[in-house]
Amino acid sequence: MDYIHDTLSGLRATSPAQSEFYQAAEEVLECLRPLLQSNPRYHEHSIIERMVEPERQIMFRVCWVDDHGRVQINKGYRVQFNSALGPYKGGLRFHPSVNASIIKFLGFEQIFKNALTGLPIGGGKGGSNFDPKGKSDGEIMRFCQAFMTELYRHIGPTRDVPAGDIGVGAREIGYLYGQYKRITARYEGILTGKSLNWGGSLGRKEATGYGAVYFAQNMLAARKEDLRSKTCLVSGAGNVAIYTIEKLYQLGAKPITCSDSGGTIHDPRGINLETLKRLKEVERAPLTKYAEQHAESTYIPKGDYPDDGHAVWRVKADAAFPCATQNELTLSDAKALTHNGVYCVSEGANMPSTADAANHFIASKIAYGPGKAANAGGVATSQLEMAQNSSMEQWSLEKVDAKLQAIMANIHQSCATTAEEFNEPHNLVLGANIAGFRKVADAMIEQGVC
Ligand code: GLU
Repeated sequence: MDYIHDTLSGLRATSPAQSEFYQAAEEVLECLRPLLQSNPRYHEHSIIERMVEPERQIMFRVCWVDDHGRVQINKGYRVQFNSALGPYKGGLRFHPSVNASIIKFLGFEQIFKNALTGLPIGGGKGGSNFDPKGKSDGEIMRFCQAFMTELYRHIGPTRDVPAGDIGVGAREIGYLYGQYKRITARYEGILTGKSLNWGGSLGRKEATGYGAVYFAQNMLAARKEDLRSKTCLVSGAGNVAIYTIEKLYQLGAKPITCSDSGGTIHDPRGINLETLKRLKEVERAPLTKYAEQHAESTYIPKGDYPDDGHAVWRVKADAAFPCATQNELTLSDAKALTHNGVYCVSEGANMPSTADAANHFIASKIAYGPGKAANAGGVATSQLEMAQNSSMEQWSLEKVDAKLQAIMANIHQSCATTAEEFNEPHNLVLGANIAGFRKVADAMIEQGVC
């Protein structure tokens, strides 16, 4: 047994049945081995044990009334994981799959992601098992109001600043913000991803997707390559996927897939962005509608691959952008991707690759950007929104985008140089985990036992 194994088995014992959280923790901790060997002070200060334990976890009941007058009950969560670098920062996810394990894995990843941005933000995450799908606008509003009626007492512009994630976009952020204002009588930057009308930042909506593409650009530039004329696979059809597709087109690439909970669209002529935006941002319709409107595309319903694989990863391409959700890309998918010629994978979602799939990419030495590095553009731009709110300014899109590009280039640089420092050049998983951890761990030591 050693320090890392002891901590992981302690975690298994004290956080049973939290498989996603355990998966995220194991990936980070296993990468830290060489750093811990050369720096015994992290062990001396019990940094690993402290880091895997959230500073605070809030779980609450959310009661709201549906359109039929019935009282509905959901679970609400906010995990304030680590504040060594700044106020807790991280999104809220509303999805039926949300549970304590999912929120803890997301919060844990957020610590290192936020550290990699180089900006003063700690890590947190929250959400609910509420399913926005099929709910009326009134139901969404009443749910958001009920959620904020508990959450408001735990957040603040220098304390904890939530944002969106799956199931939480501009509409939900608006209802949450309105309720905070009503309860506290304060107009302040307690959420990011706000509407441009009242405190939002230009470029925030696009930032996660654009950032994942900028990260791919940086990985490819290091290999004297670029995205021009590359065929790309994108999964998901939400905010991250849509703006990944948009930026890929802007850079001369051809994205040919997207997917939702029902299935995958393969459009060999390139995904029609206008249709996708209309269906998902306006009509909130399933992708079956895309196939109805584009005869040249194929719709592959979910569950077509018996080996636990996904249709979206079985198409021949050069690059892949998993932008849907955790563990959406399995080992058999990863093997299919590299077999089909994919040599660049940039993760727009959080932990979309299973541990086996990620290890396959690392062993294959392809350009592989893990989510905590590649999708950090969203939270980074959230911090730019916070900066604009606190100085009562509104920056131009050009200014925000230039900052985003510089941040993504810095993140890539810091992952790549750290990977080299530890003799694993090109292993950006190792680079991201060590670079993110080192920043947070050093801050924790400097701040004493707290
Ligand atoms: N949910 C996003 C993420 O996973 C954004 C968080 C934020 O903007 O605070 O990083």
